[in-house]
This record gives sequence, structure tokens and C-alpha cells, in this order.
Amino acid sequence: MALVVQKYGGTSVGDADRIRSVASRVVGAAADGNQVVVVVSAMGSFTDELIGLAQQVSSHPAPRELDMLLTAGERISMSLLAMAIHDLGAEVLSLTGSQAGILTDSSHGEARITRIRGDRVREHLDQGKIVIVAGFQGVDPDSRDVTTLGRGGSDATAVAMAAALDADACEIFTDVDGVYTADPRVVPDARLLKEVSYEDMLELAASGTGVLMMRSVEFARRFGVALHVRSSFHEQPGTWVKESAMEEAIITGIAHDVSESKLTVHGVPDQPGVAARLFGNLADAGINVDMIVQNVSMEGVTDISFTVPKNDNAAALAICERLVPEFRAGGVDADPNIARVSVVGAGMRSNPGIAATMFRALGDRAINIHMISTSSIRISCVITADRVEEAVRTLHEELVPLDEPVEEHA
Ligand code: ADP
Ligand code: ASP
Ligand code: MG
Repeated sequence: MALVVQKYGGTSVGDADRIRSVASRVVGAAADGNQVVVVVSAMGSFTDELIGLAQQVSSHPAPRELDMLLTAGERISMSLLAMAIHDLGAEVLSLTGSQAGILTDSSHGEARITRIRGDRVREHLDQGKIVIVAGFQGVDPDSRDVTTLGRGGSDATAVAMAAALDADACEIFTDVDGVYTADPRVVPDARLLKEVSYEDMLELAASGTGVLMMRSVEFARRFGVALHVRSSFHEQPGTWVKESAMEEAIITGIAHDVSESKLTVHGVPDQPGVAARLFGNLADAGINVDMIVQNVSMEGVTDISFTVPKNDNAAALAICERLVPEFRAGGVDADPNIARVSVVGAGMRSNPGIAATMFRALGDRAINIHMISTSSIRISCVITADRVEEAVRTLHEELVPLDEPVEEHA
């Protein structure tokens, strides 16, 4: 008997009809002779709505209470799905993250899974039940408080459950057909990838491709869990994310991210230790700095620019404003109207010239590049936010092959 983990995202459980159709699909998988663990997200944009409510009652919602609130979203969808499955005559029960034995560290809002005690889930599976687990949540065993795993965290729940239970399959059901060469909402003729390697998927997810949460891909790679990302609306196969992909185009895809903000500290004296103090202070405040650019020093002073998540913009700005007089720097400004566009593909390693093509394509459209960063398989440019969709479409047209590569037969 095979054990499958199926994860259904927010749109897939967005209303009563969709919950009923997920219920039939789950019961179908069980009727095919599988043991089934289902991980669910909150319905539709319910998590956003809860965050909005929290912000209406508090300017800085207490992290523990915010997690108490947000975990309610997945609790609603898991119990509704259990009721719908029950009506179809199958044995089923729903469990919160805590009841399912998902243990995390104590970082509210961004908790990391430290261990999974799978015995309770296994016990119910062995009794022939379908087990539904609330995504996106766990419990800190020291404080016994519930935690959330970060936005999109139900993907991480599913992969971690699949690894802990040694599942035969981990299916991520979503509102698109799989992983495309760019966000299909921005590039209508983006191509569905049959396969993508963990390595490329990690870079794509880190660069804003929201179809999989980055940490879920890290987890999948570490524990060798192959993921099948597919549509919850039909039966066609989607995209396999696994160790190595057969499709070896030079560029796998284009990603974009509008969730960051850029800060620039001007006129910083070019002395040893300044960058360490600036970024040390930001790190101490738990702010994740992404791209960093320091200009060539002119007359002993330089500018340092970096990006942070928009949510951390105000906190990062306050830290910089405090440090400006200490550094005897010129000042600081923040620009939230930026976006990052990235070209990703392991084939880049052996194909020089991609960066030049990317910069030329943006230049031809008079799209100005504010910052550039690279890894061995990714090039990212920061541009103004209002040009980002045009940039993605342009780069997709220039750099992503139109058709599947022709397979060579020996
Ligand atoms: P779920 O609620 O199922 O977790 P998400 O909204 O988190 O769904 O992820 C699916 C969305 O990811 C799609 O609706 C799509 O707009 C977006 N997306 C961005 N880039 C891509 C890509 N390259 N391929 C597929 N989807 C993408
Ligand atoms: N409901 C959570 C979110 O919106 C988790 C998820 O959907 O994966 O981020
Ligand atoms: Mg998601």
C-alpha cells in the first residue's frame, strides 16, 4: 500500500464547492488503495484578511497572538474538508499542526520545523483513516505555543510530513498546472515545465516564484522528496521537482519579486568596520538583507544600497537613521517602488553571455537597472516596480526557448 501526501492551496479550498471537489479527489486516492495524508491551506485569501484585522486592532500585533490568530485559518479549512470527506462515507479526521506532532523553534511568524513526531498520524493511517493536517503551523515544545512557518508555509508542512512518513509521493495541488517558465499571470505564453531540478527550483523560489515556498524546496532536496506540482482542477500531470531534470535548456525560467524595498545610505566614510556595524545592527533586529551594493569610494565617502522585505522597511530605515550621525554619513533614503527580476538556469554555468543579453534586452526597452547581483545560476536586476511585468515578458521572449528541447535518440 502506497502512502501519499497531498497538499491543497488556498484557491483549491476557496469555497464550499471546491472543498467538496477536493474531498472527492482525496477519497478517490484512498479508494485506489493508498494511505492518504492531506495538508490544507487556509481558504482563499483568509490569511491576508486575518492579518488585515490584526493590523486594525494593533499597530504592532504581538507575534504570539498573531500566530494564534493565523493558525485559525487552516483549522477552518481542515475541519470543513473532514466534514465533506465524512459525507462521502470515508473514515477521516483532522489534526492541527501541534496534534500532528510538528515541532518547531520559537520564531513566531517564521518558525522552522525542528522535528516531526509522526506516531499519531501513523496510528490513524493504520486504522484505515484519511488524515488531514493543518498546514503552515506547528508548536514550540518549550513554550507549548503554536507557531506559523512563514507565508506559503503549507508547502513546508507537506514536504516535512512526506519526509517524516517516508511517503511514496508528495503532490502539491494548486491553481495553476505546475511550474511555468515565468508566472503565467504575467506571461500568458509561458511554458509548463515537465521537470525542474531542486537546484533551479530553489533559485526560482528564492527569486519570487511563489508557486512553491523556498523552504519546502530546501527540505525536499535535503530529504530527497520528489514533488509533483499540479492543478487541483483537473487530472493532467504537472511538474516534477526532483534531483536532476531531463530538460536542460540554458535558462529554466524568469522570476520576479515585488516584495522588497531598497535603502541607500549616502556619503558613508569609507572605513573598515562600517559595513559590519550597519549589517550587524540589521541582523540583530532580525532583518533579512538581500542584495547589497557598495559604490566605488569618491573622496573618501561611498554609498551603500541594499534591499529588505517591505515589511521590514520601516524598522530598517529607523536603524539607518540612528546610525547616520554615528557614521557621520550624509543621510538615508528608502524606495519601496522597486522590483527584482531574475533569470535562472543551471545551464548558465557553461554559457557565458547571458548577463550581456539580459542587460541589452532591458536597455533596449529603456528599463534602467538600479542594482545587479548574481549567483552561478542566476542573474538578478533591481528595476522600478512599474516596469516589472514588461521586463519579465521581454526577458522571457529573449531568453527562454519557445519549445521543448528536441530529445536526441541514440
Ligand atoms: P497555493 O495557494 O496553491 O499555495 P500560490 O498562490 O501560493 O498557490 O502559488 C500559485 C501561484 O504562483 C500561481 O497562481 C501563479 O500566479 C504564481 N506563480 C508565480 N510564478 C510562477 C511560475 N513560474 N509557475 C507557476 N506559478 C507561478
Ligand atoms: N495560509 C498561509 C498563507 O497564506 C499558508 C499557505 O497558504 O501555504 O501564507
Ligand atoms: Mg502557496
